[in-house]
Amino acid sequence: MSRLQLFNTETGKKKVFSSINNKVGIYVCGITPYDVTHLGHAFLYTSFDVLVRYLRYLGYSVTYVQNITDIDDEILKKAKELKKNWRVLGEENAQGFFEDQRWLNNISPDHMPRATDYIPEMIVIIQKLIKKGFAYESEGSVYFSVEKDKEYGKLSKFSKTKMLSIANERGNNPDDPNKKDPMDFVLWQAKKSGEPSWSSPWCQGRPGWHIECSAMAEKLLGKTVDIHGGGGDLIFPHHESEIAQSENANNKQFVRFWMHAGMLKYKGEKMSKSLGNMVFISDLKKKYSANVVRVFLLSHHYRSVCECLESAMENAIKTTEPFKRVFKKQSGQGKVLSVASYEKRFFQALNDDINTPAALKVLEELSEKILKDKNDTNIAQAKAFMETALHILGLEVELA
Ligand SMILES: [Zn+2]
Repeated sequence: MSRLQLFNTETGKKKVFSSINNKVGIYVCGITPYDVTHLGHAFLYTSFDVLVRYLRYLGYSVTYVQNITDIDDEILKKAKELKKNWRVLGEENAQGFFEDQRWLNNISPDHMPRATDYIPEMIVIIQKLIKKGFAYESEGSVYFSVEKDKEYGKLSKFSKTKMLSIANERGNNPDDPNKKDPMDFVLWQAKKSGEPSWSSPWCQGRPGWHIECSAMAEKLLGKTVDIHGGGGDLIFPHHESEIAQSENANNKQFVRFWMHAGMLKYKGEKMSKSLGNMVFISDLKKKYSANVVRVFLLSHHYRSVCECLESAMENAIKTTEPFKRVFKKQSGQGKVLSVASYEKRFFQALNDDINTPAALKVLEELSEKILKDKNDTNIAQAKAFMETALHILGLEVELA
């Protein structure tokens, strides 16, 4: 059988996956719960759910970490707007997200750390970076000095100009008078009035976004993480900066495989609050079963653009229906239906960078074969394989 190959964003190539002692640590950047989560989040986390399920099927002992960015500019801004406590706002949205994940049949990560519980660990990394000359304090805030890191940019491969313009779009303040260079990013920011703060060796304040993930990943999975994932929009600056922090603090490779999911679009546009085109799981729940929504999501490769169209949902219903009928059909007493070729193609698809659309196609073909059969064929083996395969894809709800 072929072996599992995964696409690594850093090398731009697929590579056979291997791990030490059969253990795999996966860190996937989780939500910032400042708002209700939408179908885009469902696409991202369902993609990683199948990866985790498949690695476990292959016999790996997987530790799956998905954090919650419970303190961040966005949460504080939204809490102020709504005149709500930032913790209450974050918790409410996190609970809604958990409910959606349960409905989608996404397995719970082994750890869901909240950033505010790891502030001492963040401080330790920041102290190491200052000591090694990669970071500096200014007016109570601490910044990472990008020019000191000659490898900065190795993940995104963006030019300096492009990096700066994207960073500025995503919350960087190039005019911060405390910075030596507009590209430098914040590791610790001094308290602003009305904001929550924690004590540190520098000043009362709060951590920068990137340091949160470096600290949680190291604490829960060690200095080198096997797989680090997230949405494609996190490649720069978030993941680029995580590499800079962790590798310069520890002198060790931070991540072996970087995996990034594609974007979810609705009517050709990125799903976003400002465009008012968000599709919520709570709305889909009223119209479709969890299996149908999952089949819809998995009928897109995780690195591709997932276009949310009514017709695609209808296709997902057509794909899902025969799976149900296969389980209801009684096995005959005649010739055994051989599933070897289906099995081979199903695993080949998953081994090819988790190609779920191709894997689903194989199951569709097998279902058709089983359902069309009128020859008293013994389909027990075929049904057993279907059950295993659907379990790997997380499509077990409502099928039994
Ligand atoms: Zn992160």
